[in-house]
Amino acid sequence: MTTPLLGQMMDVPLTVSSLLAHAARHFGSTEIVSRRIEGDLHRYTYRDCETRAKQLAQALLALGVEPGERVATLAWNGYRHLEAYYGTTGFGAVCHTINPRLFPDQIAYIINHADDAYVLFDTTFAALVDTLAPQCPRVRGWIALCDEAHRPPMQTADGRPPVLCYETLMDGQDGRFDWPALDERQASYLCYTSGTTGNPKGALYTHRSTVLHAFGAALPDAMNLSARDAVLPVVPMFHVNAWGLPHAGPLAGAKLVFPGKDLDGKSLYELMESERITCSAGVPTVWLGLLNYLRETGARFSSLERTVIGGSACPPAMLRILEDDYGVQVIHAWGMTEMSPLGTLSKLTWEQSQRPLADRRKLLEKQGHAIYGVDMKIVGEDGRELPWDGVAFGDLHVRGPWVIDRYFRKEDSPLVDGWFPTGDVATIDPDSFLHITDRSKDVIKSGGEWISSIEVENVAVAHPAVAEAACIACAHPKWTERPLLVVVKRAGHDVTRDELLAFYDGKVAKWWIPDDVVFVDELPHTATGKLQKLKLRDLFRDYVLPSALEDSRNCPLTPEA
Ligand code: AMP
Repeated sequence: MTTPLLGQMMDVPLTVSSLLAHAARHFGSTEIVSRRIEGDLHRYTYRDCETRAKQLAQALLALGVEPGERVATLAWNGYRHLEAYYGTTGFGAVCHTINPRLFPDQIAYIINHADDAYVLFDTTFAALVDTLAPQCPRVRGWIALCDEAHRPPMQTADGRPPVLCYETLMDGQDGRFDWPALDERQASYLCYTSGTTGNPKGALYTHRSTVLHAFGAALPDAMNLSARDAVLPVVPMFHVNAWGLPHAGPLAGAKLVFPGKDLDGKSLYELMESERITCSAGVPTVWLGLLNYLRETGARFSSLERTVIGGSACPPAMLRILEDDYGVQVIHAWGMTEMSPLGTLSKLTWEQSQRPLADRRKLLEKQGHAIYGVDMKIVGEDGRELPWDGVAFGDLHVRGPWVIDRYFRKEDSPLVDGWFPTGDVATIDPDSFLHITDRSKDVIKSGGEWISSIEVENVAVAHPAVAEAACIACAHPKWTERPLLVVVKRAGHDVTRDELLAFYDGKVAKWWIPDDVVFVDELPHTATGKLQKLKLRDLFRDYVLPSALEDSRNCPLTPEA
């Protein structure tokens, strides 16, 4: 047997630090702009950022942090958070980004589960840190992301480790530091899922997966990033690495603009205009706020070309308004924490782009095409692969170099035949476009047939009087489950139950139309802004649909029968 012939190329590891080093060397004067907690706008360059990331690496090493140890962040999108991304991973420590919107008990669980050595926090979270500190005795120090002048007053009692000041630590270092060559399979980031049931689970990325994901994210048929872009990641850096933008941006040499803590329509719009943003990314709720602001003020975008919308389904109505009324291309994206997160993005092939507008729209409303690095399939209940006909729907499984193999500190493998089961239910059409119809635990089964709650919600939010809608299953004596629509009305607008139900005529199959509508002041959301349907189902567990009452009178399947 002949031995395989090995190639003769340099074996340069794919490390996270190489992304920033590239930007600092080749796009050294390109700006990074941040709206700070302190209230002002901070500007510096990739060159400055790398120097400060090196200062942070030196400071953490001086504090005794060892490669492989976890250093956590509780922070908004900003330049210091970016320094934390690179100043930890750069010397082999693991950057553990924590979602501050989780319940304090969940955050404490995560910090203890991850065994975080230090936690860097924005001063907005000083009170939260005061609550967390006694519950996290193994944390060696809490580092406030500010200078001495902005140090928040904090508790020091009961033998807590010291609260350190970030800028003071940085001042003690000169930034003369060479990023060490790491094994590209070493851990880079630790991100926990938002966990609607049970405790959050950790996804531990590698340097290799982070860099490959950055390549994938920047591709023309993904976010299409270039050195001519000014990118505003509204998606938080504490949620799946802001969809990879803090890595794909330096890779492409794009200007980065960070919005800080104010994510309302006015603040975002002003930043987009003043920094001449070309590309942004965020969850649908953020765009809802922005669109409301534009509607109220009549403001227009002067530089925004495209926006990536994902995290939850982008309502078709939102896509239409952004594209038709504001000339902004919408890139609908799907992914998850376990996938670093990008899986699919809605971009057309040349042939698809020749089709009539209505057909193009139908495709673009879906979650899109897999990017290189992700393979996907849908499987039926028997585990067999289902056809890509746009009709059959089943459990969505994925695999690829930036998909997790197992969860952090969990023994059991989540994989099925080498594929990761996403927990989403989807169709894939003959154009290879993925369409997410539900989370598997949210699907509504009526008379043995599935109803897509996302489709039902999309119709509701297209109604001008609807701000937000959730469709959940309600028990039904005849059909097992029937859809109930829970709606938040748009301020200053009114609509009745019957008007809303009539709005469904001709838009979905008759039997998909909800049996009833309930109006509420607000809907429960997870820490990442997704509808918390589990909680909603709990709230409406005893709700009796009018149709259920009628049917229970004549149906032989009633509990009494
Ligand atoms: P997370 O890990 O918190 O990012 O959540 C991932 C989950 O969010 C996915 O498994 C989907 O259920 C949902 N999700 C993400 N993007 C989309 C999208 N574009 N449309 C529908 N659901 C989405």
